[in-house]
Amino acid sequence: MLGRNAVNSSIFTNRKVPGMRILIAEDDKVSMLVLSRILEQLGHEVVCAADGAEAWQILSAETFDAIVSDWMMPEMDGLELCRRLRAEQGRAYTYFILLTAKAQQEARAEALAAGVDDFLVKPLQKEELMARLTVARRILDIQDALRTWSTKLEMTAGYLETANRRFSDLFIGLPVACLTFDLEGKIMEWNRAAETLFMIQPEDVWQASLTDVVAPENPDWVESFRARALERGVDEEEVIFERRDGAKRYVVYSAFPLRGQNAAPVGIVCTANDITERRELEKRLEVQLKIAQELNAELDEERSKLATANHRLEELAATDALTGLRNRRAYEDVLHAQYSFAIRQEQDLSLILLDVDHFKSYNDNFGHPAGDVVLRDVAQTLVSNVRAEDLVARYGGEEFVVVLPITDRTSALVIAEKLRAAIEQRAWPHRPITISLGVATLTSDQSTADLVDAADNALYAAKQAGRNRVWYFDEQPMAA
Ligand code: GH3
Ligand code: MG
Ligand code: MG
Repeated sequence: MLGRNAVNSSIFTNRKVPGMRILIAEDDKVSMLVLSRILEQLGHEVVCAADGAEAWQILSAETFDAIVSDWMMPEMDGLELCRRLRAEQGRAYTYFILLTAKAQQEARAEALAAGVDDFLVKPLQKEELMARLTVARRILDIQDALRTWSTKLEMTAGYLETANRRFSDLFIGLPVACLTFDLEGKIMEWNRAAETLFMIQPEDVWQASLTDVVAPENPDWVESFRARALERGVDEEEVIFERRDGAKRYVVYSAFPLRGQNAAPVGIVCTANDITERRELEKRLEVQLKIAQELNAELDEERSKLATANHRLEELAATDALTGLRNRRAYEDVLHAQYSFAIRQEQDLSLILLDVDHFKSYNDNFGHPAGDVVLRDVAQTLVSNVRAEDLVARYGGEEFVVVLPITDRTSALVIAEKLRAAIEQRAWPHRPITISLGVATLTSDQSTADLVDAADNALYAAKQAGRNRVWYFDEQPMAA
């Protein structure tokens, strides 16, 4: 018999437990009717099965909060039904109440072992049933809560496992060597980069001492590092250590305490960054820089020597060795520059050509070296009697030339006379020395060659006129 009915009775309203789905297994039709009526009145949804086998069949398709089952039934009794139910995995907990006759009281232990939760003694008492259902509700609620917690716990455990695995992968794969060690300095965890840096095998490391792995030759540093890491952490400390293979490595260490519950330190996390390549590169660069600097200094020195040599060479090329005056080549450069300036600025430009009188006989009488002395003294006398902006140069042999910028004819003649007088008046060692001078002042239609010719002609005229005199070209000598 299968009946479904949900009737609320106002009599039980204030005492009933929240509605449950209840399966009734009972072969006695009257008992079933009574039971289902009461349960429905209490606000429960009821499904009825005529015996254990039918109940089991219904259970294969549906779930119930509770089963109220008779013990003795044909086909399958209440205990067998309970056993099968309990043997099933994954089903939500179903509260099982077994209906017993007084005579079955002693067999309760067997029933409890089969998984029965509670007993009701026939004939049924409404109040008793309600009380049992209240317990059933409570147990089911607890079961529910437990299931929720268990699901949450499973999920949390799953998250934790994933997080743990991800952290582990991250730690293992970090490109920087990482180690953790306990308060005594025994290594707990390390990653692949640490194995490479310290050249260690996994079997060597576990519980090995930090000193043995990191710096066997420097236990004092390890001890101080450990203490400082615990106290306030270590931030990028560079250390040079000799690795197992004898290679010198530059390593930058950082460390901080690893805290457990209550924030109490339980160990230390340490990273070790191998910067050997960088340091070696820096060292090589330093050496190369030093070499480059030295080369540069040498180059500078060579350059300055060259500049000095060039300058001296230029000086030599422009200087007359005997008198120290500008030579003919230098004089020509100056003359051309002054000529351009005079033309452009419409300024006067005068030129004096002068020649030592009867110098051949001086050489003949007193020797060539004595002649040289005269030429040097003549040069010196000329230089000290002209302005700084005037140029005195050796023209060749015993001839000299004076370039007079911004100087007109009158002034040029005055200067020429001054030079003549200065030579004549100088005290000479063997005999008096005189000079003849030809003066020319630039006219608007003249080239430099014309100007030089004019001065040369004037000099020739001065010689012709008796020497020791100044001659302006094409004019009368000034004085004898
Ligand atoms: P004049 O009055 O006509 O100029 O007669 P001069 O004897 O001076 O003329 P000349 O041209 O016959 O002789 C010039 C002499 O100057 C001849 C030469 O040996 C001498 N002389 C030229 N250069 C030098 C020099 O550098 N040193 C010495 N000691 N004598 C030189
Ligand atoms: Mg001469
Ligand atoms: Mg002469």
